[in-house]
Amino acid sequence: MLRVYLDNNASTPVLPEVLAAMQPYFAESFGNPSSIHQNGQTARAAIEDARESVARLIGARGSEIVFTSGGTEADNLAVAGIAAPGDHIITSSIEHHAVLHACRYAASQGCEVTEVPVNGTGVVDPADVRRAIRRNTRLISVMFANNETGVLQPVDEIGKIAAGSGIHFHTDAVQGAGKIALDVTKIGCSLMSLSGHKMHAPQGVGALFVRKGTQVRASLQGGPQERFRRAGTENVPGIVGLGRAASASRLALSEPNGGMVEILRNRLEQGILNRVDGCTVNSGPAPRTPNTASIRFDCIDGEAMVIALDLQGVAASSGAACSSGATKPSHVLTAMGLTPAQARSTIRFSLGRQTTEADIDFALDAVIVTVARLRALSPRYSAEMVRS
Ligand code: PLP
Repeated sequence: MLRVYLDNNASTPVLPEVLAAMQPYFAESFGNPSSIHQNGQTARAAIEDARESVARLIGARGSEIVFTSGGTEADNLAVAGIAAPGDHIITSSIEHHAVLHACRYAASQGCEVTEVPVNGTGVVDPADVRRAIRRNTRLISVMFANNETGVLQPVDEIGKIAAGSGIHFHTDAVQGAGKIALDVTKIGCSLMSLSGHKMHAPQGVGALFVRKGTQVRASLQGGPQERFRRAGTENVPGIVGLGRAASASRLALSEPNGGMVEILRNRLEQGILNRVDGCTVNSGPAPRTPNTASIRFDCIDGEAMVIALDLQGVAASSGAACSSGATKPSHVLTAMGLTPAQARSTIRFSLGRQTTEADIDFALDAVIVTVARLRALSPRYSAEMVRS
């Protein structure tokens, strides 16, 4: 059976050229980059090439890139590396848990934290950020693009507010990298997080941009790697993969058919809206990443729909996460004002560079059939149909 993968915000497949670039660094050029012999120096050179490539993707310098084990570590390093007890942090209610929980942990260690809200389409109001600033505000952390809705945040404006008050600005650009051109100067951030597996590099590698002159306290104690900002022998194959994926992303963003993913996303979304009753795009008219559609279906349980779609060969995800055996509605969707039931009835479709028109048509048919089947079983839907 054809399988269509529409969960690229969770993880993307490694591009063949990325895999090919990584391959030699497992068994041939396997040296420790800290070793001074040739084997080590070959690995060192590959890391430095990758550093330049990642830097170019976001308009930074190589020396401003710190390689990490992924987006979570980059976010944690940004928060814990900047804020100290007594400092105030401003973040938003829709951040990924890698930021939100890092901030809440910082609060338990003596920081003050303000979580600014979002409007009904999932956008932070920069005026709220400005109002939240205190004399001890040390860090503002607002994401570039949300992972559940794809909604883009007004980071340029927030960057200006931060710069005007001499506050560090961190943006989690994990869901933006490779999809939208990123420029750390335009955004005015002093820190930016990236993750390999959201941009067709492997899982377990990421990077934190740290603007020249910004002091981050290392979270890991050990060797002098990454200029003392991240101890531990580097993940050479992963870093090489991230570097190759960054150059592939730069190329893809400059290509004339770079908008193909958006055309396909719109085809899916419009197809669903035209052919399925009772569904709503959660982000409304807010600007968003070209690959993401977050849609709620009246009287549908999102988890049940994900399972039913999977049986039909379509991988997507729901607006609820299983924690401790219970499904909790997404904090992002509820922060936007959705009821827990609406959040639970949400499905996220996220496309990748490998997605084809045939994939979208297959997925659309599967969604139509699945919604009809699930609603036929739903007493709530039957009751609402009788009423209307
Ligand atoms: N930030 C955002 C916005 C994400 O979507 C994710 C992963 O889903 C992360 C951070 C964490 O990245 P990683 O999986 O590389 O730890």
